[in-house]
Amino acid sequence: MLSTADALATLLGAAAQIAGKETLPTLEAINRVLAADVISPLDVPPMNTSSMDGYAVRVSELSQGERRLPISQRIPAGHAPQPLAEGTAARIFTGATVPPGADAIVMQEQTEAAGDEVTILHTPKAGEWITQQGADIRKGATILPAGTRLTPQALGLAASVGCANLEVVRRVKVAVFFTGDELTMPGEPLKPGAIYNSNRFTLTGLLQKLGCDVTDYGIVPDKLDATRTTLRDAAQGHDLILTCGGVSVGEEDHVKPAVEAEGRLSMWQIAMKPGKPLAFGAIRRTAAPDAHDTGSNETFFIGLPGNPVSSFVTFLLFVRPFLLRLAGVRTVTPRALSLRADFTQRKGDRRNEFLRARVNAAGGLDLFPNQSSAVLTSTVWGDGLIDNPPNHAISAGETVRFIPFSELLN
Ligand code: AMP
Ligand code: MG
Repeated sequence: MLSTADALATLLGAAAQIAGKETLPTLEAINRVLAADVISPLDVPPMNTSSMDGYAVRVSELSQGERRLPISQRIPAGHAPQPLAEGTAARIFTGATVPPGADAIVMQEQTEAAGDEVTILHTPKAGEWITQQGADIRKGATILPAGTRLTPQALGLAASVGCANLEVVRRVKVAVFFTGDELTMPGEPLKPGAIYNSNRFTLTGLLQKLGCDVTDYGIVPDKLDATRTTLRDAAQGHDLILTCGGVSVGEEDHVKPAVEAEGRLSMWQIAMKPGKPLAFGAIRRTAAPDAHDTGSNETFFIGLPGNPVSSFVTFLLFVRPFLLRLAGVRTVTPRALSLRADFTQRKGDRRNEFLRARVNAAGGLDLFPNQSSAVLTSTVWGDGLIDNPPNHAISAGETVRFIPFSELLN
């Protein structure tokens, strides 16, 4: 059996960035991945600005302490100032340009204004309450490198240097289908032996959160022909085909032979719990690649196990980084925390376990009592996974590796 680390390394090794790009208005680029570096064409702020409402002064003229000065001009934000006349102060507001000649701002709380004169009650240091030109960003600096996923803050930063548009990687196109004769869609009556297709909702949600363009082929019956036909269709115009269920080696599991017939397959038994079987490979394309395609003659394939917790966890640990890499994201490893276990788990497992746990008010971790791979409740109750190495029992008080869902779900 393959270790989780080896399986991930193999997947990431195969994931080449897709070629397509598009230019989007910055306001519409949330969660997208930058296809090119953003380089600042200017200093930010572009001029010295006041960070207080107050008076712009020359420090050298105030060295004797309290001074009464005539107010020579009034400078609101967004208006160009005159040079500061000698022996005067300028009324100034937050965000306004510091007039040439002034080298400090005295906040209005440390002054007394009377008519067109102001008494300065404080001796400022040079530079006080002035934000220097370029204090945030220097002209020519790379403020966001290619491969950055655009957060709200990153959009704000790009806008602060005047970027109205951003060049981003096109959305990764994912085809998805679900195998299993027992699967029924919510809204339909449940026949004997049937269950609802919950994974469709979980996996579609996960793909949408990653910004993928999803084509859903729905439920495919447990038949070789149907599975092959769907794979062949889905290979056209997608970067990845993701399937759920049918990847074990039972007679009703047709995904493996179907992928072998339509492309190539590596079936992995990963030494992890939940989630043991994972299939990786590619399906041949027959149609000529369109302008938006990678130009490759095959489409990646990942087959997830059908158990709801298994497919959720294997998606988070393998599919998510794979998709991010296809989109050109560099850092795809979630940041883990070291937290205290507030529970005891007497027996370790031969496999690397990913336990559903939740952070309690004391900053430690509680464990969901039922860790079965069929118990989806654990994924809603929990707020992350404990990455427990093989054959390792956990004693209360011990520090464990915890990967928060916040790191895995964005
Ligand atoms: P399989 O991987 O096809 O052997 O399925 C393993 C278990 O997961 C079985 O109990 C299935 O009924 C269940 N399962 C498979 N697909 C889904 C799905 N889309 N939604 C919910 N449960 C599923
Ligand atoms: Mg099945």
